[in-house]
Parts: sequence; structure tokens; C-alpha cells
Amino acid sequence: MRDFSQDHRWLSINTATVRKQQGAEVPLATIIDQCAERGIRAISPWRDQVAAAGLDATARQLRAHGMELSGYCRGGFFPAADGAGLRAALDDNRRAIDEAKTLNAACLVLVVGALPGALGGTPLYTDITRARSEVFDGIAASLEYARQVGMPLAIEPLHPMQAADRACINTLEHALDICDALDAQKTGALGVALDVYHVWWDPKLQAQIARAGKERLLAFHVCDWRLPTRDLLSDRGMMGDAVIELKKIRQWVEAAGFEGYAEVEIFSALDWWLRPGQETLDTCIARHRSVV
Ligand code: ZN
Repeated sequence: MRDFSQDHRWLSINTATVRKQQGAEVPLATIIDQCAERGIRAISPWRDQVAAAGLDATARQLRAHGMELSGYCRGGFFPAADGAGLRAALDDNRRAIDEAKTLNAACLVLVVGALPGALGGTPLYTDITRARSEVFDGIAASLEYARQVGMPLAIEPLHPMQAADRACINTLEHALDICDALDAQKTGALGVALDVYHVWWDPKLQAQIARAGKERLLAFHVCDWRLPTRDLLSDRGMMGDAVIELKKIRQWVEAAGFEGYAEVEIFSALDWWLRPGQETLDTCIARHRSVV
């Protein structure tokens, strides 16, 4: 396993981690500068942040800092109640693929969606089997375009607590089944984003990571699972503050051949988003070296 204790060469910051600092939204350009000042070599930004900052301006700023993208957040949300909605989702994913390409991202992360409308509290249907079928078709259609432009798609299985509203793919095994069905040759065009927050509890985790192998492991996200968890979405912990065995999981991932970034992704409305961004980033660096 790689030694992270001496430097933070393999640290990436998902920009959601510091999108709010002392309670206020911070522009992406500021976040990129804060990361560059600390010698952080990679980030994973969100589409809304990039849209606000400007796609070309963001690409220029990244190039000026020699900074790369460990991933781009995010595509997905394929299910819809009707044909027009399904087509709109595919169009939106095509735009996300183009943006990821402009930013030269390592992959486009897919949060695949679930019951349409559930995110707003009113699902338009409740058939999760149908949602999974629409997700499968949506990934298949998007993969065709992604292959043409050369942008790998990374399915991110989410914790089952988010099966209704954000993603109806909830285990690494399920994500890999879809990868095998759509990309049997393991071309590198389709794989997974493995986020410890979503999968740490899975009794099949080690075996499925070995099954995934280097070709399917496109991204690795780290944070920690707080006790108690006070909010289903935005109460993630800092690495080392709670119960996820980070080094053990990284060992499995690297044994399978993964050699990329450990991307810190912490949504923390009640803690880290209230602190100064400098403190959050410096803590990420320290914990990357000590516990990741
Ligand atoms: Zn993630």
C-alpha cells in the first residue's frame, strides 16, 4: 500500500467539502486557490459551482495551477415519469460528459437517481424496479456517447438510506453487475466511484472490491461515519473521527490495483461547513497523512 504519511501527493478535495466556509457559500475560484496554496494537486468540483464560475475560466484556472480532476460531480438522475423526462435526463448527462471532457476529468461520477420527484418530497411513482430499469437504460445510452468522446463513467453506489431519493443502486455488487452487463470487456469506459461512506458496512465489500479490479475502480472517496448521524445527507465526519476503517479499505482498493487519488468528500452542515475553509483543508491534509 502506498505511504501517505510523508506528503499529500494523492490527496484530492471534493469541493463540496469546503463549498461553505463559516456558513457562507464560497466561489469555486477561491476554493481552487486555497487548494493550490496548500500543494493540493487535484479536486473534484460540482456542476453548479463550475456553472457559476464559468466552464472555460475554471479550465484555465486549473491549467494555470497544474491541477487535475479526480472526478466531476455529477451526472445521473436518469429515472423520470415520462418519455420527455427520460430524454431530458439523457440530454443533461450528455452536457455533463462534455463539461467533464473540457475540464479533463478522470471520470464523470454518476449518482444514478431513484424515484423521480422523491428528492422534492413527492415521488411521481413508487416502483423502484422501474427506476432501476430506467437507470440501466440511461447508463447504457450515456455510455455510448461517453465512449465516443472518451470520458469514463463512474457509477457511485449510495447507502440504502438514499435509495428513494438519490440512487437506487445501493451496493458495489449491483453497480458492478451493471458494469459487467454494459462493458463486459472491461474497457475502462465504465466503472465505479467507491465512496467509503456509502459502502463501509457491506459484508461483501472486500470481495466486490477484488472483483472490481483496476479497470473498474475509477474513483475513491473518503470521509467518516459519525455517531450519531444527525442528517441523512450532510452530516459526514472527518476521516479519523469515527468508525470507518479507512486504511483497511484503502488496502483492499490498492490490492485490486487502484493507484489514483483519495478524494475527501465531506458534507457537513453542522460542523465543517461552519468552520474556516483553511482549517478544514489543513485538517484534511493532516488526516490524509495519518489515517487514510
Ligand atoms: Zn462520493
